[in-house]
Amino acid sequence: MIEIKDLYKSYQMGKNVLPVLKGINFSVQKGEMVSIMGSSGSGKSTLLNIIGILDELDQGTYHLDGLEVKNLNEKIAAQYRNKFLGFIFQSFNLINYKTAIDNVSLPLYYQGVSRKEREERSLYYLEKVGLAKWAHHLPNELSGGQKQRVAIARALASDPKVLLADEPTGALDTKTSYEVMEILQKINNEGKTIIIVTHEPDIAQMTKRNVELRDGIMISDKRIEPVLAKDYV
Ligand code: ADP
Ligand code: MG
Repeated sequence: MIEIKDLYKSYQMGKNVLPVLKGINFSVQKGEMVSIMGSSGSGKSTLLNIIGILDELDQGTYHLDGLEVKNLNEKIAAQYRNKFLGFIFQSFNLINYKTAIDNVSLPLYYQGVSRKEREERSLYYLEKVGLAKWAHHLPNELSGGQKQRVAIARALASDPKVLLADEPTGALDTKTSYEVMEILQKINNEGKTIIIVTHEPDIAQMTKRNVELRDGIMISDKRIEPVLAKDYV
């Protein structure tokens, strides 16, 4: 699904070069649920953004579902993102003046999905995250956990091959975090490949594979038996 070889990435800071990723080799197979751990500044978001085609690598190769991701123009990059990737962010990134269902529908609108199918699919995914009753509410009427569930429904609605989540529980209390992880575990058990960036060890324990970054180097990669979030909510 994802195959990264000898990846290097630096940022230019004025006259200085800041190396952020220094020779990453990382593969993810279909159906995996992987956490990327590491302290702040270790390069987690940079790696996830490269996987998400939101940023470009300097050196190395990246294959996504067998296709090499390289020098894509913005239009093709957007097509790849729509087709392959769903994103979940710490801050939810919902549109405040649109209802839950309209937030879920919006990416489908841009993909040219008909109105009827948009509504059906959006409701289906809102149901999946337990929010069917909240479909016509605005984000400010929802709790943080509910907002993140809307964001998960939005990410799932285009049926991406991979779900990428950058600190999805970073803005949530512990119990709500586990509720969100329960949903992500359910979606993974249904076959969706998921990559989660987190600096919270208890969240990482709820995935099936822990990868650790330190100063731009992958220092460990372990398969684990995941803690079940549903036992903690
Ligand atoms: P993490 O997500 O692990 O906290 P990041 O990948 O966000 O780490 O950042 C790694 C390093 O790269 C940090 O030192 C950060 O300041 C720097 N960095 C990230 N994005 C940029 C950017 N767009 N321009 C310059 N420096 C950046
Ligand atoms: Mg980050």
